[in-house]
Amino acid sequence: MNKITVIVPCYNEQESLPLFYQEIIKVSDEMKKVDFEYLFVNDGSKDKTLDILRDLSKKDKRVRYISFSRNFGKEAAMYAGLENATGDYVTLMDVDLQDPPSLLPEMYRLIVEEGYDSVGTRRVTRKGEPPIRSFFARMFYKIINKMSKIEMVDGARDYRLMTRQVVDSIVSLGEYNRYSKGLFSFVGFNTKWIEFENVERVAGETKWSFWKLFIYAIEGIVAFSTAPLGIAAIMGIIFCIISFIAVIFIIIKTIAFGDPVSGWPSMVCIMFFLSGIQLFCTGIIGQYLSKTYLETKKRPIYIIKETEEINKLKGKK
Ligand code: UDP
Ligand code: MG
Repeated sequence: MNKITVIVPCYNEQESLPLFYQEIIKVSDEMKKVDFEYLFVNDGSKDKTLDILRDLSKKDKRVRYISFSRNFGKEAAMYAGLENATGDYVTLMDVDLQDPPSLLPEMYRLIVEEGYDSVGTRRVTRKGEPPIRSFFARMFYKIINKMSKIEMVDGARDYRLMTRQVVDSIVSLGEYNRYSKGLFSFVGFNTKWIEFENVERVAGETKWSFWKLFIYAIEGIVAFSTAPLGIAAIMGIIFCIISFIAVIFIIIKTIAFGDPVSGWPSMVCIMFFLSGIQLFCTGIIGQYLSKTYLETKKRPIYIIKETEEINKLKGKK
């Protein structure tokens, strides 16, 4: 029998976790021909999430969990899940039910019967989201798709079902700065997209502030495009040309009309402007340098403190 591993990153999710468990059990019961493994990744929660997971894993053999030593972020949690999943097929789901588990049977059918390697989901609406956030999200996808050869699908969620082959290729990308949306398209394979209406989270609060999302967007661009470096260089060339023309203009003007001292306010403005541009370009280069720096340290992406296996061992003693 085929086995599906459901990877669920959880960070302070004591309210949504029991609701999620109920839902996923319902869907699993519908899919009688498949075995399930639920792999919860506790990303350093400070509430009762871990206690709930311990209980669930005692009651239900299909429940496994990995608990981190601190909060490493959702990307790290997803990577830990993918590395430790044992299923023939693997899916990633949010615990807040924003990724409807009810889509799973259809996703599984598409892979098994129609031969796709992976089925992704994208939400076609952004209902319930602040308009400013939607606006910036749309802008981000426009910009990154212009800058990067890798296609990023607007509204694509991390919720997807993949074959073992796809999972293994994603795990083989062991980079420290992970931007999963890009990594999923980077590995390629035949992907089918299914669409659904945005669902609001069942309980608890989103962990993504606007600022966090903004930083994440920059990370995505830096990870999948070197275009900003090119822009910095081109800006340098353009300003060289402008200043060259300006020098010639001033020389001719001085020869023709003499040189009364004036115009220092405009000069100050120009100086400010140019130092701004310089700092901006240095900043861009700094972004890439810092990512390279972090990458060369080869620090682990996550650190495990506890898994359900430790629990079972304790139980035996
Ligand atoms: N999450 C996580 N680590 C974090 C932040 C979030 O594992 O540092 C998990 C969270 O528990 C949830 C999923 O990632 O299962 C998506 O988080 P959230 O719902 O806050 O994001 P949104 O849906 O608003 O983008
Ligand atoms: Mg959510």
